[in-house]
Amino acid sequence: MQVEVIRSAHERGHFACRKTRELIEQEYFIPGLQSKVERFITNCVPCIMVNRKAGKKEGYLQALAERRGSSSSRSTLYRVYRVK
Ligand SMILES: [Zn+2]
Repeated sequence: MQVEVIRSAHERGHFACRKTRELIEQEYFIPGLQSKVERFITNCVPCIMVNRKAGKKEGYLQALAERRGSSSSRSTLYRVYRVK
């Protein structure tokens, strides 16, 4: 159920984590939403393909972190990638 909510919000445009979260929060409350959205996007195949096409993973992550507007979230995201 939660995954379906995250999927339907994210797939409206394959938005970055912050925008996806904003869309979800307009309609739902999901505990731990931030990390769930991050995990979903990390595993989103179209986003992974775009990531590959863009080339350097680090540059992509930086752009993503900047869009989300926080330097602390960059390390969070980086850690997610390292674990995978
Ligand atoms: Zn996506």
